[in-house]
Amino acid sequence: MKFIVYSFLFLTFFTSNYVEGSYSSKGIIATANPHASKAAKDIIDRGGNAIDASVAVQLVLTLTEPQATGIGGGAFMLYWDERTSKLYSIDGREKAPSKVTENLFLDSDGNKKKFYPDAVVGSQSVGVPGIIKLLEETHKKFGNLPWEELFKYAINLAENGFPVSPALNSILGYLKPLKEIEPAASYYFIEDSEGLKKPVPVGHILKNIEYSKTLKRLSKYGSYDFYEGETAELIIEALNNDNKDSKMSFEDLKNYQIVWREPLCRKYRSYNVCAMGPPSSGGLTMLMMLKIFENFDIKSIDPNSIEMIHLFSEVNRIVYADRAYYMGDSDFINVPVEGLLSETYLSEREKIINLNYYSKTITHGNPPGAEDFEKNIDISKPSTSHFVIVDKEGNAVSMTSTVEGPFGSHLMAGGFILNNELTDFSMIPELNGKKIANRVEPNKRPMSSMTPTIIFKDNNLFALTGSPGGTSIINYVTKSVLGLIDWNLDPSQIVNLPHYMNKGDYTELEKNTSLENLKTELELLGHPVKVLNKRSGLHIALKKYDGYVGGADPRKEGLVIPIN
Ligand code: GLU
Repeated sequence: MKFIVYSFLFLTFFTSNYVEGSYSSKGIIATANPHASKAAKDIIDRGGNAIDASVAVQLVLTLTEPQATGIGGGAFMLYWDERTSKLYSIDGREKAPSKVTENLFLDSDGNKKKFYPDAVVGSQSVGVPGIIKLLEETHKKFGNLPWEELFKYAINLAENGFPVSPALNSILGYLKPLKEIEPAASYYFIEDSEGLKKPVPVGHILKNIEYSKTLKRLSKYGSYDFYEGETAELIIEALNNDNKDSKMSFEDLKNYQIVWREPLCRKYRSYNVCAMGPPSSGGLTMLMMLKIFENFDIKSIDPNSIEMIHLFSEVNRIVYADRAYYMGDSDFINVPVEGLLSETYLSEREKIINLNYYSKTITHGNPPGAEDFEKNIDISKPSTSHFVIVDKEGNAVSMTSTVEGPFGSHLMAGGFILNNELTDFSMIPELNGKKIANRVEPNKRPMSSMTPTIIFKDNNLFALTGSPGGTSIINYVTKSVLGLIDWNLDPSQIVNLPHYMNKGDYTELEKNTSLENLKTELELLGHPVKVLNKRSGLHIALKKYDGYVGGADPRKEGLVIPIN
């Protein structure tokens, strides 16, 4: 086959949404929301470091990007401590309550519930939130400024209000059940003259007094308030008001612990790419892809060419087939990390790739050390938020946090949204008599796709990346790594690349991009093609000319702020 190489002219390399300055010599902030980026800058200006700034960012995002993330959810953080040259990966993922059973998402006839709204909306989908513990513990270990000071920006914004953004307004427009669920209904919708509930309009100054009260308590009493104090009471009350049989107890909240896990790192060319291991499938799946890409001359392939889309799609199908069978919470099942990443195994898997046409079927392999599981089907409605911060000392945070789907379970407590993370588990516990690795179990963490990543060159910080986007996250992030390492692109160029991928059933091309022109040609190669909206939110930092450049995904409302 003759590959048509499409020129870079196809790429629309405009700069990121909002960029204040291009690069700086000291550090950089990139988040999905201007208020959050400004809160981080404020903290850095007061002498705070990347960890202090991360606390401020997350508290503000809870208020301004509630559709995506919040303290009622979970997160993974990668933290590079410059002074000790040590990388940490911290798991603040939600846990299933101790009283759930593997049939959590089955109806009384034993059939799986409809995903939305039945499984998602309401108390049954809420996992024990992890973000506040994660922020408190990392701050205790590495923070510079007093804990209370990190709350001021968010408290002020919650009390005085912030202008509703187009993204917040538009997502409210299509979440019908949210309109009927209090207190979210009264907070996010306004009745018009005919008594119809309309989403709070763009520019409306939205205050959140309940949340400011929660923030004040947390600033004073720390995570104790969230897991054992008044906030814990508000959480349990909100869950019980929804369903008296809610499974989460005070004990579940009290017993919640974050986990300091070993970061998952592998060489990609001359770089060391580090990410989050299980219970995220993100790092492992991305590194499997990169290890296969390493055997191809990616540098010489145009990122938007048929050749690249075809190769990406084949590699994508191979690793997602394995992801569905073997990944989940490694505290509960044996995830064959070494087997999946072993050279022998991956070179066998690579043989499946046909460079000339779409391989008919690609099934899961048999990595060394694997248990015999059935296939996990995961559904995830994109929300989530990713941010990166490098401070003046060179400490760096790459953190992805989430309430899972838009507005999580739609329940609120203390002015914040409670997650629906438990629907990241398999809806059914077994298939054909065989267990599914990612089935619901008491105290287990649902498998995630979140892929906060930090890349090193010669043990020095090189780049940070990550994205929201449900099960597409891994592909957004993997392609951003190719952009940084192989295509030598700046973050502002990478975030503007159109997206393509194949998670198993069809090849996806991003709608309203130049890729639509390639549909017919891909179909001639045998690809089943769908043109779809792709909701990434890549936030990237790259070391350049002894300083940093950043990128904020134009699909979101982010802001890059250099630190001078
Ligand atoms: N809950 C998903 C996960 O942890 C992320 C959802 C999203 O990005 O939309 O993988």
